[in-house]
Amino acid sequence: MKKRVILLGPPGAGKGTHAKSLTVAMHIPHISTGDMLRDARSRGTELGKQADSYMSSGALVPDALVNGIVAERLASETNGYLLDGYPRTIAQAEYLSACGEKIDAVVLIDVADDVLIERIVGRLSCPNCGAVYHRTNMPPKVSGKCDACGKDLVQRADDNEVTVRQRLEAYHKQTQPLVDYYDKLGLLSKIDGAGSVEDGFAQLKKVLEF
Ligand code: AMP
Repeated sequence: MKKRVILLGPPGAGKGTHAKSLTVAMHIPHISTGDMLRDARSRGTELGKQADSYMSSGALVPDALVNGIVAERLASETNGYLLDGYPRTIAQAEYLSACGEKIDAVVLIDVADDVLIERIVGRLSCPNCGAVYHRTNMPPKVSGKCDACGKDLVQRADDNEVTVRQRLEAYHKQTQPLVDYYDKLGLLSKIDGAGSVEDGFAQLKKVLEF
């Protein structure tokens, strides 16, 4: 089984959704820099304050800020991890490698831009447990409430069409070069993320050998 895994893909590809199931199936922690930054922002920490304007506009937070929080977190993980939303630039990938982290697999979840926009604009998340829903494609059983913990669902502040287009542009310009970078290292696999969650998960199971 691959134990040090990077999930790569545009916003809305399903990285967070799959990571929630993978972390249970593979017994490795889910490390999402987006979740860590949102947490820092809601707690009003110095990092949260510095990251806020970038996140609200759909731009990437500067490498130095993100690298710092990841390094701290990875140092405490000895049994592998599932990285979701990191690295997002070549500089971040080089930093990860310079930290001595040996990655076993990088999986690109591939989805076309028009599908992503429709998915993200309808997305609802649980601020308590992180579960993700979609207004029409994957609605909660009780409208507006999380199936798992019953808390009120929210729409992420950056899940609106204007910001989504910025996030997609940042992805294509800054993150997509990582596809080639990891392919050249012989680590990259690609799955088709346009279908159902079950279909995507079955493909991940094969690629990650669990
Ligand atoms: P996500 O939840 O992964 O979609 O991330 C939400 C936002 O957090 C992004 O649009 C960025 O502003 C910021 N962010 C998350 N991870 C990174 C990263 N690795 N590098 C730079 N910015 C990030």
